Amino acid sequence: MSIHEECGVFGVFSKTPIPAAQYCYYGLYALQHRGQESCGIVVNDDGLFFPYKELGLVGEAFTKERLASLPQGTMAVAHTRYGTTGGTNRANCQPIVVNHQKGRMALAHNGNLSNAAALRNDLELSGAIFHSTSDTETIAYIITKERLGAPSIEEAVSRAMDQLEGAYSLVIMSPQKLICVRDPHGFRPLCFGQTPGGSFVVASESCAISAVGATLIRDVEPGEILIFSKTGVVSLREHCGTKERKLCIFEYIYFARPDSVIDSVSVQQARLRAGEILAQRYPVQADIVVGVPDSGLDAAVGYSRISSIPYGIGLIKNKYIGRTFISPDNRTDQVRIKLSAIRHTVENKRVVLIDDSIVRGTTLKSIVSLIREAGAKEIHVRVAAPPFLHPCYYGTDIDSEKHLIANSHTVSEIKTILGADSLGYFPLECLSELTDTGYCDACFSGRYPTAIQADTRKNRFERRLSDSEQ
Ligand code: 5GP
Ligand code: MG
Repeated sequence: MSIHEECGVFGVFSKTPIPAAQYCYYGLYALQHRGQESCGIVVNDDGLFFPYKELGLVGEAFTKERLASLPQGTMAVAHTRYGTTGGTNRANCQPIVVNHQKGRMALAHNGNLSNAAALRNDLELSGAIFHSTSDTETIAYIITKERLGAPSIEEAVSRAMDQLEGAYSLVIMSPQKLICVRDPHGFRPLCFGQTPGGSFVVASESCAISAVGATLIRDVEPGEILIFSKTGVVSLREHCGTKERKLCIFEYIYFARPDSVIDSVSVQQARLRAGEILAQRYPVQADIVVGVPDSGLDAAVGYSRISSIPYGIGLIKNKYIGRTFISPDNRTDQVRIKLSAIRHTVENKRVVLIDDSIVRGTTLKSIVSLIREAGAKEIHVRVAAPPFLHPCYYGTDIDSEKHLIANSHTVSEIKTILGADSLGYFPLECLSELTDTGYCDACFSGRYPTAIQADTRKNRFERRLSDSEQ
């Protein structure tokens, strides 16, 4: 269970046929941290679409044979999914491909619409039927509907944007064009670059641009529609600047890879800075600073720099295990499978333990006891995010606030639950020091940038039989 959603989108455009599926494969591989539930690639070979989607990790779903079975093409779009809206099933795998009156379209989406339920309801009342429970199909429906009266696919996308609210970074493929779109708030990242051979690549994070040997050109602007076609690259900016910038601050804190640069800010630099601020705000007499792998490591380095307490590697992560967060049950034991403490580093030491965030508190509780068992004298926990108090509607996976430990406990109670000697959370008001672009911190502050509808829950389309169903 997650409180935020992590999907990765990727696309490639070339004027001449290239091994487009392979670009996507390597791109998705670099975006695997953003979602491990399912993945898919759709190749465009001369206007014909060749999709392959499967549950599981990129390396498992795309065997060598499977990858080789996809043809060369001038374009492809790809997606790696962490289920948020909609459950785990094949119908919800992306990219989705739709056939419509003016041709076909493939679409990969990262984000969550905050008005999806209302939009879908309106469409259903006008006779629309849906195959999946994900809100991405709603976006596809609205674009194809607008396409009927629009002179071009990009114009249809622009008209659809007037109706969509919330988070969407999209990569869309038509027979002749690759189009990428970022919602006017810019909740989720999206950037593009170019390969030495002249192909364009689009990705959720710049680490995927580098992974395919391309050079980052820039971020897609919030509200921008970028169109790649044989005639060149066109940027439509009519939705740019219409809304306040609201990049999800959690991209810097946890989601993104530290080697990515989002909206011109290095993720690693933001994390180092978070650690520095923690050191200034919550100094403590200690012997060593230990970060929780992987997302707590950079903040630990930052804490060490400012406090002059040496940084040490006190926890080792098994390289062959994914994020335990994705597995539903018995997480306490999973922490031991994933992490182990290095006695030599922590024994008889006063340890400052840095992690990126606390959601339910179960992970950190296990980690504190691992370090205690390895002989630490004192454990001072510092968290590089403020307390989670509110669900996220721009990619939520939590139905209610009751799972968030900070919602029902004070900091002092949480310290006791964790078994720590002290606890300090990153100050909400200091988030602005991590980036110079506008950001969304609703999960910490409750300040939602868009109206929130009552039925924005995950699985809202997966209800059991109700009276109206016969
Ligand atoms: P918890 O407190 O629920 O036991 O786990 C917190 C840890 O889960 C954090 O340290 C962080 O690494 C990870 N985490 C926090 N938020 C998310 C999220 O939205 N998705 C996933 N997959 N992991 C998260
Ligand atoms: Mg963690």
